[in-house]
Amino acid sequence: MSDSAFRTMGQQAGRRSWAEPWKIKMVEPIFMTSREDREGAIVDAGFNTFLLRSEDVYIDLLTDSGTSAMSDRQWAGMMSGDEAYAGSRNFYHLEEAVRSVYGYRYLVPTHQGRGAEHLISQALISPGQIVPGNMYFTTTRMHQELAGGSFADVIVHEAHDPSDPSPFKGDVDLGKLESLIQREGAERIAYVSLAGTVNMAGGQPVSMANARALRELCDRYGIRVYLDATRMFENAYFIQQRESGYGDKSIRAIVHEFCGYTDGAWMSAKKDNLVNIGGWLAVNDPDLFDRLRNLVVIYEGLHTYGGMAGRDMEALAIGIGEGVEDDHVRTRVGQVQYLGQLLIDWGIPIVQPVGGHGVFLDARRFYPHIPQDQFPAQTLTAELYLDSGVRGMERGIVSAGRDPATGAHRYPALELTRLAIPRRVYTQAHMDVVAESVKAVYDARGATRGLKMVYEPRYLRFFQARFERLP
Ligand SMILES: *Cc1c(COP(=O)(O)O)cnc(C)c1O
Repeated sequence: MSDSAFRTMGQQAGRRSWAEPWKIKMVEPIFMTSREDREGAIVDAGFNTFLLRSEDVYIDLLTDSGTSAMSDRQWAGMMSGDEAYAGSRNFYHLEEAVRSVYGYRYLVPTHQGRGAEHLISQALISPGQIVPGNMYFTTTRMHQELAGGSFADVIVHEAHDPSDPSPFKGDVDLGKLESLIQREGAERIAYVSLAGTVNMAGGQPVSMANARALRELCDRYGIRVYLDATRMFENAYFIQQRESGYGDKSIRAIVHEFCGYTDGAWMSAKKDNLVNIGGWLAVNDPDLFDRLRNLVVIYEGLHTYGGMAGRDMEALAIGIGEGVEDDHVRTRVGQVQYLGQLLIDWGIPIVQPVGGHGVFLDARRFYPHIPQDQFPAQTLTAELYLDSGVRGMERGIVSAGRDPATGAHRYPALELTRLAIPRRVYTQAHMDVVAESVKAVYDARGATRGLKMVYEPRYLRFFQARFERLP
C-alpha cells in the first residue's frame, strides 16, 4: 500500500484498522500478581520502579531501551557472529549500515548510548564550556558535566507546556541560542547537542526546517552540531506526517537529509535500532574520529567492537535496516498513539501531542494537591504499579536531580510519569489493560498521598533513590 493510501485510511480511523507488519513466532509468559504481592514488592523497592524485580511486573513499560523483540533475521544474524578480537566481519556490516542509513563517514562502536556520550563529551568539551541543547537528557547531561561543561536548555518554550499542541515541540529556539552565543562568545560553546524526538519533553520531534536553520546559524558562528540519534527514526516519521514537502518521502530519505545537517551522532542502539544491547558514535571529521578511536580503547574495547560481541553487531546492523522501514515505524508509533488516544478520550491528562516512544502522564494534573517536592510523578508511577502491575518510570523532579553548583533540587516544569512502549513486544490488548489501569488510578487520585525521599545516591538519583509514603 502506498503511504498516502495508508494515511487516508488512518484519517478514517474507526472504519479500517492498521496492523503490525509481522506475526508472533515465540512467546514469553507473563503473570499478574495480587495487590497484596505488589504492595510488598513496591515497599521493598522503596517506591522506585527501577528497584522492582521484573518477575513482579505484569506489563513492563519502564523503558523502550533494550526491550525490543528482535526479528527472526536478527536472531539468525546472532548465529553468524565473527568473534574475532580485531576486524570482525560484523563490524564492517555495522559500519556499512550506519553509513548507508545515517550517512556519517566514520563509526566508533560502543557498548550502549552512554558509552558514546562519554567519549564525545571527553573529546569535545573543555572545562568551563557550555553545551546548549533542546532539553537535557539524564545521561547526556551527566557526561557533559563530568567533562567540565554545563548544559544550557535552548528548546522552544512550548516544550515545557504539556498541553501545547504544537507539532514540533522538540525544536531549538534559535533566538535563545543566538543570544546565548552572543552573550558567551562562540568559543565558549563546545557544540550544540541536538536530540531527535526529545525524550524528556514527552517524545516530541524536531522539524526539518529547524534542523536546517540550526545548521545555518551554527555555520555563521563556526559551531558544530552533534545529534542524539537514539530515536531519530521516530522523529523522521513525525516529519513525514506533519511537515509540508515530506509526505511522500521515505523515513530513510528523511533520516539521511536530517543527519546531513549535523556533524555526527551518538546512538543508544537499544532504542530505534531494535537490539537489546549496543551503541555507536559516528562523525564526519577525520581528526575527531582519530581521537575517538583512541579513547574507545580505554573505556569500551577495541575500535572494531567497542564492548559489543560480534553477534551483537550483526543483530544491530540488521536492526538498523528493519528499524528505518516505513511500515515498522508507522505501526510502532501507531501503537503509542493508540494508547494515548484512549487516555485523551477518557479525559486523562497526558502530554500532547502524543510522542513517539511512549505516553507521558501529567502528574501535576493528576495530583494538584501534592507539592513537587513530595514527588507527584514518582507517586503516580508507584500507584499505577500497585493497581495493575504496570511498570512506568518517573520523569520529573527526581530525574532532574540537583544543581551541581547549589545542591538544591532542580524543579522542572514537566512532572511526568512515562509509559514507554517496547518495540514489537506488546499487543493492542495489553494497551487496553494499561489504559484501564491508568483510568482507575486517575479516578482514585483524590485520596493519594505523596512520598518522601529516604535514600539519595549522588549521581543519576532516579535509578536508585528510595522513598516512603507520607502519613
Ligand atoms: C537511552 C538514551 C541515552 C543513553 O543510552 P543508553 O543506551 O541507555 O546508555 C541517551 N539519549 C537518549 C535520548 C536516550 O533515550
